[in-house]
Amino acid sequence: MTRTDVMVLGAGIVGTSAALHLAKRGIAVALVDRRGPGEETSYGNAGVLEGNTLFPHPFPPGFAALLRVALKQATEANYHLSFLPRVAPWLIAYRANTTLERRIEFAHLMRPLFARAVAEHEALLAESDATRYLRKHGWLKLYRSEAAFGEAGRERELAAKFNLPNVVLDRDGALTLEPALAPVFRRAVHWPEAASISNPLAVTKAYAARFAGLGGALLTGDARSLRRTGAGWQVDTQEGPLDAAEAVLALGPWTPDVLDPLGIRLPLAVKRGYHQHFQPRGNADLMRPVVDAEFGYCVAPMEQGLRLTTGAEFAARDAPPTPVQLDRLLPAARALFPLGEPAKAAPWMGTRPCFADSRPVIGRAPSHPGLWLTYGHAHWGLTLGPSTGRLLAEMMTGATPFCDPVPYAGERFTR
Ligand SMILES: Cc1cc2nc3c(=O)[nH]c(=O)nc-3n(C[C@H](O)[C@H](O)[C@H](O)COP(=O)(O)OP(=O)(O)OC[C@H]3O[C@@H](n4cnc5c(N)ncnc54)[C@H](O)[C@@H]3O)c2cc1C
Repeated sequence: MTRTDVMVLGAGIVGTSAALHLAKRGIAVALVDRRGPGEETSYGNAGVLEGNTLFPHPFPPGFAALLRVALKQATEANYHLSFLPRVAPWLIAYRANTTLERRIEFAHLMRPLFARAVAEHEALLAESDATRYLRKHGWLKLYRSEAAFGEAGRERELAAKFNLPNVVLDRDGALTLEPALAPVFRRAVHWPEAASISNPLAVTKAYAARFAGLGGALLTGDARSLRRTGAGWQVDTQEGPLDAAEAVLALGPWTPDVLDPLGIRLPLAVKRGYHQHFQPRGNADLMRPVVDAEFGYCVAPMEQGLRLTTGAEFAARDAPPTPVQLDRLLPAARALFPLGEPAKAAPWMGTRPCFADSRPVIGRAPSHPGLWLTYGHAHWGLTLGPSTGRLLAEMMTGATPFCDPVPYAGERFTR
């Protein structure tokens, strides 16, 4: 293959979903990655389809919380000291975006994408013969103190305005849903309309197989070789140079590797995160992902076992892994969850691509005709892959987009 209508660079859940949506609309598409589909960030997440999400992840609220992070005592966050000067401007902007007013703005601007998230996955799962990976049991957030439960009250108030169902439970109510938990928490909230995936890697691969079944080309190549040729774009692949009229960058945390040389500098940072698998103790198991809110981690039942995923680490994307958060939170996790033997493999590390306003960039690249962007999905790339893939495909084919794409435009950083 030497020529196609559209090349999509990056076969994570975001790029694969976009490529599939374009192929479904009759466009000739090549999906290019240096690895197999879904093998990077889209592999190791907690598998939650957060259709219920309203607020971005909070900045440590108050001096005491910030001090715990600074002293490296917090389970929910870690940082590399040498990286702080580089990320400081982004952190200041992130903090400014987590005032109550800005969180409510985020909720309104992102609601169309989150509201479609589970339904768009269901549609792609069905046509990809992968519905067996979907669990529609919602997810559960646990609060060990009344104070922490109270802090989440604003989100529940807003949920009521959006008619987003959530069920406040006492300890016994939560144990009825998840009998394998230890009663070391006080309150819980069940978000029944969220869903989860028992094998995120298998789902991206199933979407890629569906894409190939529609005639899409899966190619191996390095996106950093992207260059302009006349009115189009060219990239080197193992099958030779590939030309396309339009190119989509969906390289997740690696997108700046291609954008920066083109002179497009959008302020992306990464929040690194880790996971480790555990065998469940005895016959114990979980029905759904469960979050230990104060400690800032999630345990999700996966085909590989119970997957414990951490919160954010602020460090250079390519710096060696430092999975200290796992060590810090394990005592709390073992006291709550039926975690048996850990898997022998070293902890997995992934890098969430995040803008300071926690919104992705979806749409045309600033001042580069024929170049499109879909990246920066932060904590919700698995959730939002299909809905943002649909939105991008609608924009690229001139269809009426199912929601207003303006809040996701890259120009919001360049105006
Ligand atoms: C610990 C953790 C838990 C998470 N939990 C959840 C969750 O429960 N729910 C949720 O919705 N989200 C979750 N996320 C976030 C989610 O995983 C990401 O937002 C999502 O995977 C990003 O997808 P992506 O396709 O943009 O990036 P990626 O999956 O990283 O895909 C980018 C692709 O680009 C390719 N690439 C990079 N450079 C090049 C190059 N030069 N040439 C060719 N190809 C290249 C890579 O090989 C990769 O396949 C979590 C993330 C982490 C780290």
